[in-house]
Amino acid sequence: MTDRTFSIIKPDATRRNLTGKVNAMLEGAGLRIVAQKRIQMSQAQAEEFYGVHRERPFFGSLVAFMTSGPVVVQVLEGDDAVARNREVMGATNPADAAEGTIRKEVAESIEANSVHGSDSAENAAIEIAFFFSDDEIVG
Ligand code: ATP
Ligand code: MG
Repeated sequence: MTDRTFSIIKPDATRRNLTGKVNAMLEGAGLRIVAQKRIQMSQAQAEEFYGVHRERPFFGSLVAFMTSGPVVVQVLEGDDAVARNREVMGATNPADAAEGTIRKEVAESIEANSVHGSDSAENAAIEIAFFFSDDEIVG
């Protein structure tokens, strides 16, 4: 089934001018970028976006990292978009990521791991609505 997921190219990747490389890997995996914008996330946005991790020891550092530079927020469309994107992203820790995945090829560390991808269709819908209005998404 064709569906949508939400993606972020994180500050470690924008800093190293790797947005095109990441996008080529996403497109190579069969995902279509149907919305995209480069933004500076505010502290409040980052805290709300990663609110599920509020109690984790790395939360403060994660929020600081996500606001340390521009990010590119995206809506991706494709067959089984959520699972397909998680597959091309690779494991959270790049040391565990499979060959050919974005995190294996690009990520710097478990925190500075270059990309975010929604972990369920339900969260994808919530995350897309957090950053995009309907008229910004052109499939
Ligand atoms: P994301 O939600 O960004 O797609 P994920 O689903 O693979 O990543 P989560 O467990 O949801 O991983 O963690 C969210 C983010 O928090 C990670 O992508 C990473 O940037 C950071 N993070 C996770 N675990 C750690 C850790 N142990 N130390 C530092 N940062 C971490
Ligand atoms: Mg996650």
